Amino acid sequence: MEMVDYFQVEGFLNNAEKTYRDEVRKFVDKECMPLIASHFDSGTFPMELIPQMGEMGLFGIHVDGYGCTKASHLIYGLICQELGRCDSGLRAMFSVQNSLVMHPIYAFGSEEQKVRWLPRMARGEVVGCFGLSEADSGSNPSGMRTRAVKRGNQYLLNGTKMWITNGSIAAVALIWAKVDEEIHGFLVEAGTPGFQATLIQRKFSYRTSPTSLLILKDCLIPEESLLPEAKGLKSVLSCLNDARYGVACSALGSAIACYEVAEAFACKREVFGKPISSYQLVQEKLVHMVLEIIKAQLLTYHLGRLLDQQKARPSQISMAKLNNVQEAMKIARKARDILGARGILADHHIIRHLCDLEAMSTLEGTESIHTLIIGQDLTGISAFH
Ligand SMILES: Cc1cc2nc3c(=O)[nH]c(=O)nc-3n(C[C@H](O)[C@H](O)[C@H](O)COP(=O)(O)OP(=O)(O)OC[C@H]3O[C@@H](n4cnc5c(N)ncnc54)[C@H](O)[C@@H]3O)c2cc1C
Repeated sequence: MEMVDYFQVEGFLNNAEKTYRDEVRKFVDKECMPLIASHFDSGTFPMELIPQMGEMGLFGIHVDGYGCTKASHLIYGLICQELGRCDSGLRAMFSVQNSLVMHPIYAFGSEEQKVRWLPRMARGEVVGCFGLSEADSGSNPSGMRTRAVKRGNQYLLNGTKMWITNGSIAAVALIWAKVDEEIHGFLVEAGTPGFQATLIQRKFSYRTSPTSLLILKDCLIPEESLLPEAKGLKSVLSCLNDARYGVACSALGSAIACYEVAEAFACKREVFGKPISSYQLVQEKLVHMVLEIIKAQLLTYHLGRLLDQQKARPSQISMAKLNNVQEAMKIARKARDILGARGILADHHIIRHLCDLEAMSTLEGTESIHTLIIGQDLTGISAFH
């Protein structure tokens, strides 16, 4: 089926971008879609897809060398859109690996850290996770309690990280901890004594994603595990910018997926002797969905270009994340309604997207936090405190 492109947005993309997107689209349709509903049902991640994504060169998009294929932000966004069309947990695995682990190792790590981790992560042999949030500090990461104390040529880590994507499947965790009062990043390997990752159970959103609790109890790591160039909240936020753009693109993918299912269903389903697509109220829903998809595409692709030209401001990323998730939720609800009772079945996909969008409105900065970021940018006044 052709994807929604009502405004010839396709014309914004060059051949390399279209080729990347189409390759991922094929992979998603052939390899991912047939698996995803049952994984959503069982709350498991389709691990077999990870090496395939590595083979396709999807890991290390922001890295030059070390076995990685560097590509533009716009291409990264298109990949997020295509993976998000299938499942947000799948997209989150990809985003965390790229933006939140490989990028910081590349940008802030030592040569030894880069050589040790990046080639294996690029091949999809090793997965990473990003441990920032804690039970009592999500929106305000500077309130974190996790501490690292220097002991000779080692660091002693104590603390707990909550809601960590990929945590229980990761071979390496990037743990953000305070040394005195400054935040630093540490690479903690799975299996290190005192470090434990446990799957958070009974989630009704992000069911395929291994969201985890990480416990660090008197965990001793070599001093070489510190990312030498990562200092303070600024380094953390530089990683989050890219991940937030990824969420905006992923939400667009979810919206497209929901629209396409609803449109096909509306044309086939007959009620009162006519296809429901012939009723004005159903058409109004479809029109609203396409309108918002087009607006989100224009916003998101333009943002990708700005990111590539290093002209994007964090508040513009906030705007795309805020808009796309909010509108995708409305689109998913309308699509769910068009499918009637079938709309609640995982096999028709819409309910999965709707449940996942609930988490997406919170992760990588809540709706309110992004509103405050934009508000501060517009007025010059911080309303955070
Ligand atoms: C599925 C999932 C995956 C995640 N993956 C990761 C991960 O890989 N790594 C990681 O580090 N974290 C991860 N997170 C955590 C995520 O980043 C946090 O949940 C998010 O930042 C919000 O923090 P919180 O849940 O503690 O909510 P809180 O910060 O407690 O916020 C609660 C409510 O208060 C509101 N609020 C807070 N401050 C203000 C204010 N100043 N003004 C107005 N309202 C305010 C918020 O908008 C929200 O509505 C994940 C979360 C989920 C759900």
